[in-house]
Amino acid sequence: MKKILAINAGSSSLKFKLINMPEEIVLAEGNIERIGKEDAIFNFKTNEVKDKRTLAIRNHEYAVELLIKGLIEKAIIKDLREITGVGHRVVHGGEKFNDSVVIDADVIKEIENISDLAPLHNPHNLKAIKIFQAKIPGVIEVAVFDTAFHQSMPKEAYLYGVPYEWYLNYGIRKYGFHGTSHQYVSSRVEKILNKKDAKTIVCHLGNGGSLCAVNAGKSIDTTMGFTPLTGLIMGTRCGDIDPAIISFMMSKTKKSLSEIENDLNKKSGLLGISGRSNDSREIEAGIEEGDERSILAQRMFTRKIATYISSYHVLLDGADAIAFTGGIGENSPLTRQEIIDRLSVLGVKLDPELNKKRGAENLISQEDSTIKCFVIPTNEEIMIARDVIRLINQ
Ligand code: ADP
Repeated sequence: MKKILAINAGSSSLKFKLINMPEEIVLAEGNIERIGKEDAIFNFKTNEVKDKRTLAIRNHEYAVELLIKGLIEKAIIKDLREITGVGHRVVHGGEKFNDSVVIDADVIKEIENISDLAPLHNPHNLKAIKIFQAKIPGVIEVAVFDTAFHQSMPKEAYLYGVPYEWYLNYGIRKYGFHGTSHQYVSSRVEKILNKKDAKTIVCHLGNGGSLCAVNAGKSIDTTMGFTPLTGLIMGTRCGDIDPAIISFMMSKTKKSLSEIENDLNKKSGLLGISGRSNDSREIEAGIEEGDERSILAQRMFTRKIATYISSYHVLLDGADAIAFTGGIGENSPLTRQEIIDRLSVLGVKLDPELNKKRGAENLISQEDSTIKCFVIPTNEEIMIARDVIRLINQ
């Protein structure tokens, strides 16, 4: 039995799960939010205990100390040496990494080199890697990249119609994100259908969202691109827009490039259109009240998704399955229904009763639906733990 720690570190947060492998049993999990603030939140739970506290957590080092202390105090482990490996979610692996990798000095250097592609994410992931190296000396650490799963995309899918030298000289291409989730969900569909070469369209719909066309376990296209800003309309991100809008709005509003970028990242999407919230529950409440902009935001959101699903259906030469995951994909029957209703011309048929079920893997389409539809709760941490074990055993 091996205990693996799966870590997802952000600029002011750190999520973790300690997982017993190969049984895949979660021993402890939690998240630490608002790191750097006086009123940070420490959330830790096991089957037996729930511990939620507000306290000052000045930096990530202290957050990791608290996490380790929690594991020992709550007798989840007696000694740090019981932790066999630590797997880190790393957002960007560039073209260098098409699989997870055991971290050594060279890998750290490579991730540093890639950091200009993901300046908001990779540095925080690296920081966490270094902290765990210091706090659990000698432990094997593995990097699991959000982009790696999409490295199988063909060139015709990942290049943009821009001068080819942009790609050669600056790495301008589609990388895609949420790869760990897309891989997990599509592998579950393969298992459920008992079909190794299943063609699946995975809809990861959370605050950020992306679709992925998966053919026989390989990503052949995805909606996010060079950055996670493009593709679907998201909670606060704009998704696909005409790039000429940026210079036009700079000249009209006299805003700087970074102000416009901030608008596109933080003030757009469901929030920007509804003027109400980025949270789909709030949008649904707005729809209930008859709020026109909430209705519009939801319609734009589901229209875009249905458009991508239909194009991926063609790219896959006929999909076997559509799988919904992420906070919205797992929890919003309304969103799933609106999307699938838009696909009726393809012969996709939702079962409204099955669609009401929550919280577990479920088939939600009718018997005679041309494409089977599923809800599959994502589990990126299990994928991370599996990769750590796979690489340790290699
Ligand atoms: P992130 O991309 O930050 O990981 P999540 O996958 O947690 O985001 O998804 C967050 C989204 O999921 C929010 O828009 C939230 O409103 C939505 N969500 C969570 N629970 C529900 C629910 N019960 N009904 C509708 N939407 C939900």
